[in-house]
Order: sequence, then C-alpha cells, then structure tokens
Amino acid sequence: MDMGNLDRKYWDMDIEPKLNTPEIKEMQLEKLKVALKWQYENTPFNRKRFDKAGVKPEDIQSFEDYAKAIPVAGQADLRGVIEEVGLDMDALMRELFGQKRMDDLYLITTTSGTTGIPTPYPNFHAGIREMQTLFHRVAWRMGMRPGDRIGLCFGLSMHAAGTPQILWLQNYPGLTIVPIGAEAGTEKILQFLQLFKVNIFTGTPSLALHLIEKCPEVLGVPVKALGIKLLMLGAEPGAGIPEVRHKLETEFGAKVFDGGGGYGCSCDHPIYQGMHWLADDLCYYELIDPNTGESVPMENGATGLMAATSLNPEGAVWFDMRFTLNDIHQVFTDPCPCGKSGLRYKIVGRADDMLKVKGVPVYPAAIEGVIHSFPEELTGAFRIVLDEPPPRVVPPLKLKIEFSDKMREDDLPSLEEKVKNKMKSLLKVNPAIQWLQPNTLERATKKTQVIEKTYE
Ligand SMILES: [Zn+2]
Repeated sequence: MDMGNLDRKYWDMDIEPKLNTPEIKEMQLEKLKVALKWQYENTPFNRKRFDKAGVKPEDIQSFEDYAKAIPVAGQADLRGVIEEVGLDMDALMRELFGQKRMDDLYLITTTSGTTGIPTPYPNFHAGIREMQTLFHRVAWRMGMRPGDRIGLCFGLSMHAAGTPQILWLQNYPGLTIVPIGAEAGTEKILQFLQLFKVNIFTGTPSLALHLIEKCPEVLGVPVKALGIKLLMLGAEPGAGIPEVRHKLETEFGAKVFDGGGGYGCSCDHPIYQGMHWLADDLCYYELIDPNTGESVPMENGATGLMAATSLNPEGAVWFDMRFTLNDIHQVFTDPCPCGKSGLRYKIVGRADDMLKVKGVPVYPAAIEGVIHSFPEELTGAFRIVLDEPPPRVVPPLKLKIEFSDKMREDDLPSLEEKVKNKMKSLLKVNPAIQWLQPNTLERATKKTQVIEKTYE
C-alpha cells in the first residue's frame, strides 16, 4: 500500500493544516446544515428535539442560530428514552439513531452507563470509516510507521475502545495488530508483548504502570527491555499528569500520548499541552455553560461542558447532534508550542461530579490528578468523604489517601505538606487528609467509586 512521503508533517496534508482556521469554519457550517437536515429526516430522537424547539433545519443558517435553537442533550435525555421504550435495545437504538443507521449496523459494544444499565454503543459501517480517518491522523502524529506492531490492551469484551480499535486501525500502512486484551491478565500481556515483539502499547495508564512493577517478576527483565517505543493511553487521566508521564517515559524508554474524551490526541511537547482536536471536518466542537446552557465563546483558556455535533451523521453515535457526555473541558485556541495544528482541550472533570468548596468548583478527577502526581509516595487509591449531599461541601474537604509501601510513618508529615501545597496551588482547596496504610481501600475491577458518603 502506498503510504506517501514518510517525512510528511501530517497524515492528511489537505485537511490537517487547516484545522482551527476560519477556512475550515466555513466548511463546517455548510456540512452542519446538511447534517441537521439528515438528523431531522432520519432520527426520531433528534427530530423530536427540533419539534420541541419549534424549529426546522432550514431555520438554522449560522452557528449562532444553532446555539440558540437546539438545547444540548445528554444523559438525562437518554434516561428519558429508556423510560419510554424500556430495555428493548433494538427499539432504543432505533429511537436514538434511526432505522437508516440501524440498517448499516456492523458491531455492537457498550459503554458503562451512569444508569447502571449498559448503554449500547453501535458501530455503523459509516462510523467505522470515519474513525479510520481520525485514527490514521492520530497514529501518524504519534509516530506509528510501517513495520510497527501495536498490542491492544484495553478490554476487548464489549468495550467501546476495544475490538473497534482493530477496525479503526485497519488499512494503516504496515501496521500489525496484536489483540491481547486487558482480560488476558498481566502475566499473559507481558508474555505476548515480548513474544510478538510489540513496540506500541495501547491501554490504560494504570495498566502501563502495573506492567513496570510486574515485568521483572514475570519476564526477569525491566520493562524497558521490551522495546516499546510509544504508549497510546486513554480511558482515565494519567498521560496528562507530568509525574505519571515522566515515570512511564523513563521506565519504558518510550513516548507517551493521551487520547480520549473526543476526537484527538496529545502531542510530544515536553510539557503537556492537552489534546489536539483533529476532526474539524468530521465533528463540530462546542463549549456550553453548564448552569445556563448558553454557548461559551471559544477563547484561549475557556472552560465549559463539551458538546459535539457530527458532520457525518450516517456514522455518528453519541456526538450526533449537540450531545454532551458530561465532560468539562478547557480549550486552548492559541497555537501549540509543538507547532502542530488543531485547537487543544484538557478534560477538567465531569459536570455531575462537581463539588463546591467555599464556592470554588472542585472535580474528583482533578483531585485524582494531584494524587497520581505522586506515583512513588502514594498508591493512587483515595476517597473523598462527603458528610452532606453534593455539590456543596462545608470545608475542609475530607480525603482518605493511601501512602505507598515505600513510605514510613515518619515521612507522612512532610508528604502531607507536599500534597496539600499542590492541592492549594492547583485546585484552590485546603483538604483535611486521613492517611491509610497501602491496600486498605477496596479495589474495583471497573470504575472505582471515589466518593464515600457518610450521610446515607
Ligand atoms: Zn501540541
């Protein structure tokens, strides 16, 4: 397969130089108008949103019209649909995505829904083609090149970023995929990485950190001996935390990249710059004020609820029309010091997790970020103790934090000072810390619930 000039800056030299420019905005608006018409004609859920707002697609002629006309939709609307149609997954998907997309359904995975009910994550052929476009841009920027071998170490069983990755990376020139899967367990993962000479790892940051500890025990060599050249991480914060990134880069002798929360990836600038949004031609990105529902101007440093609208509606799943997954993003529209194109975004936390301490918004994900920035001193396990229902917290914010087995009891006072200082300077919060021995807190195999409610 022709892969073109191996030294070129971007995978797609037509589109990528134009990301985050007025020129691509014009293209977006034209595509948006077509996409909205498609949604109105083909998707019951979105047609109802138009009807409820009392507008027709042709009434929307500008981004401003769009922001005023259609309120953002999210988890609450989804629960509404589930209440209506029940757990008939086919009926649910027909309502949300429409028969036309369902006729193109190729693969079903799920996301862990906040409702406790697995939320279907369908993969339409048209969507897979779109994700290939995106993933090839991502892969090129991260430095995947012909001859590389990537080990997939996210969960493969029904996981939305598992099996579909095999399809998204298909046709990338010269790349070989080794679908190991997180289910294989640490020992087998390490053995397969070594046996099949995998040089790219993709999975969670916590698994990558765990491999550092386990590699000498399982294979008798340090993890660096595996010859991994890059780690493509996601699903949880880690790659964006300087200390975690440093540890992974040093121990693996590899470059670390962050992907997730949208259509993009981080760059290799030595200081984390957020993720570059690589999909202006595929998906329209917006920030919304979580309190008023109003559009937030896309200025450097702006923060808001991230919502997106697909410009390729036949393939879209959740971000099909002004939909939010409840993530709060901060955007950076100034050029990145790495010299590559695309506006950048950092994931600040989840809107429904927000706590307010003396009026200051604090996100559990941000607390987790600070805790993970001490990979030597802390195990990473912690709890936020709430005595009253959130979001309001009467200070001090109470935290239970496990210290690592490298620490002694008399190290704790100075460690406490370091952790508190970092929380004060980064999050404007002065917590009360209760120290716990390593492995005191229960480990969940899926997503850990970090809030401990004493009021229930
Ligand atoms: Zn950059």
